[in-house]
Amino acid sequence: MDEDDLRRWAHRAADWSADYLAGVGDRPVRAQVAPGEIFRQLPAAPPEAGEPMEAIFADLDRLILPGMTHWQHPRFFAYFPANASPPSLVAEFVTAAMAAQCMLWQTSPAATELESRVTDWLRAMIGLPAGFSGVIQDSASGATLAALLTARERALGHAGNRDGLAGRAPVRVYASAQVHSSVDKAVRIAGIGDANLVRIPVAGPLHGMDPEALEAAIVADRAAGRLPAAVVACLGGTSIGACDPIDAVARVARRHGLFLHVDAAWAGSAMICPEFRDLMRGAEAADSLVFNPHKWLFTHFDCSAHFVRDPGALTDTLGLRPPFLRTLGHEGVTDYSEWSVPLGRRFRALKLWFVIRSYGVAGLQEMIRRHVAWAGELAERVAAHPDFELVTGPILSLLTFRYAPGGAGDLDALNERLLARINDDGRTYLTQTRHDGRFVIRFQIGQTTTTREDVLTAWQAVEEIAGALRREEAGTAR
Ligand SMILES: *Cc1c(COP(=O)(O)O)cnc(C)c1O
Repeated sequence: MDEDDLRRWAHRAADWSADYLAGVGDRPVRAQVAPGEIFRQLPAAPPEAGEPMEAIFADLDRLILPGMTHWQHPRFFAYFPANASPPSLVAEFVTAAMAAQCMLWQTSPAATELESRVTDWLRAMIGLPAGFSGVIQDSASGATLAALLTARERALGHAGNRDGLAGRAPVRVYASAQVHSSVDKAVRIAGIGDANLVRIPVAGPLHGMDPEALEAAIVADRAAGRLPAAVVACLGGTSIGACDPIDAVARVARRHGLFLHVDAAWAGSAMICPEFRDLMRGAEAADSLVFNPHKWLFTHFDCSAHFVRDPGALTDTLGLRPPFLRTLGHEGVTDYSEWSVPLGRRFRALKLWFVIRSYGVAGLQEMIRRHVAWAGELAERVAAHPDFELVTGPILSLLTFRYAPGGAGDLDALNERLLARINDDGRTYLTQTRHDGRFVIRFQIGQTTTTREDVLTAWQAVEEIAGALRREEAGTAR
């Protein structure tokens, strides 16, 4: 393909994208294919000779599209969103055109300096004070790993990187059971071990960690010769949106000299609205905080904003400067590869710059406010319904519920069957979690193009499918 071909096919891709997004709401949200169905249709061997783009594009529609779950569908209410937006998409296209590796300042000074600037915009947008430095990581998982490695080395006086962990007092990390599994994974990768991730009980309507129990656990560990190193607080846990009382947790962490990392992967985006910032009170005392504009701030994956109080502690932990990576003649510039586990990094700041400039802060706030308001309205409907039970929330735009019609037997099994029916139906897509040992259905609102109408349509589908399921099961039971 030469530049003329590129022009032609890029226009075709732009038309395809606009058509796809204009029509995505008419497709079933979750892919309706069986395991292996797509794989079997793909040739076992690659083509020997090049094929025309026309044929490849035709197969995109024929083979691939039916096997896609549509995350940009306006009735996608599953998991958390991975929302996106036209300005972000356009920026991703030009980013792909430049295809730069932005690991060092000199490998693209504009990429580094734009990243410093837009992360500082984001910091101010969520109300974190100056004094935090930002970096865009590949994922919240990557940010949490970087934070826990930093915490480990701080606790060990850098002996872990130098000598390894063998023969040392166990490094301890504290978190509630509501934190994301990325914390468990980071604890494993950091060599800390599952047994040293201490679970602190939760209490209250936000299902937050009990600071007194945290304090007691730290004191007991010290007395037993273990090495308390870090607390991971959650601001909007994945299961039900749990929020730890960050201010109280931060006081305990500070009193004991522990590193505090806040995982706000989903809920962090909502902190651009000052009225929700009560949830993050105390975050200004954290050592590290991550949130994902690639979840709820209309920016394509991958884009995790990671803020650290002491970037030197992070680069002392992760930064290596072999001779071939030195930036000669420019000491003191930022080389973001020293802030993260992978060396190579995409130019991730550009899409964020396009998004923030295109919508403006007020435009972004407006979209998030609507999501939260609709979740509140939906929660009222669920709670008022005689056959449904609102189980948790709403916390921001996430609530959980279950179907509990009078006289039904095993509610876990009933709700599991209901959820399968809802997702086979295709009008909406919801996912499940377990709360207090019970199977519950999650409903989160955060898609870019979702309207109030979409929320009501999805709820109507749930009511209708639940009623039909109940009538059918009552019929077969008779
Ligand atoms: C989604 C999520 C993560 C993981 O995010 P990645 O960017 O995919 O690693 C971590 N924590 C919470 C609370 C999340 O919701």
